[in-house]
Amino acid sequence: MVSLSKDDVVRRMSEALKAGGKMLAHTCPVCGNPLFDIKGEMRCVACDKPVVVVRDQAESGRALLPIVLSSLEGVVVEKIDELTGRLAGLVDLSEIEETARTIDSLLSVLRKSEEIRTAVKQKEQ
Ligand SMILES: [Zn+2]
Repeated sequence: MVSLSKDDVVRRMSEALKAGGKMLAHTCPVCGNPLFDIKGEMRCVACDKPVVVVRDQAESGRALLPIVLSSLEGVVVEKIDELTGRLAGLVDLSEIEETARTIDSLLSVLRKSEEIRTAVKQKEQ
C-alpha cells in the first residue's frame, strides 16, 4: 500500500468535501482516517478505496472479500490480456502449450472469483 503524507491526506479530504462528499463519524479500519460519504458510497480518501463498515472484527474479513476479489479479477484480466498478446507471437509448441496452460489457470481463478462473489452477494440478500 502506498503511504501518503499527512498533507496529501488532508488535500484529498478537502477535495472530497469540495466534490460534495460528507465526512462521517466512522474511521477507516486500515488507516484510521475519517471516512467520507461520496455519492452514497463510503470511501476512505487516504486509501482511495470503498470501505464497508462492519460491526465487529469477525465480519470485517468477509466484508472485504468482494473488494479483494474484484481487484484480483482486475489483475487476472490484465495478465490474460498480456499472455494473449504473447501467445500470438509464439511459434514454439511447448511455449504455446505452457502459455495456454497459464491462461487456462488464470481463467479458472477468474471463474472461481466470480462464483464466490456471486455466492456472497446472494447470501447478503
Ligand atoms: Zn484508509
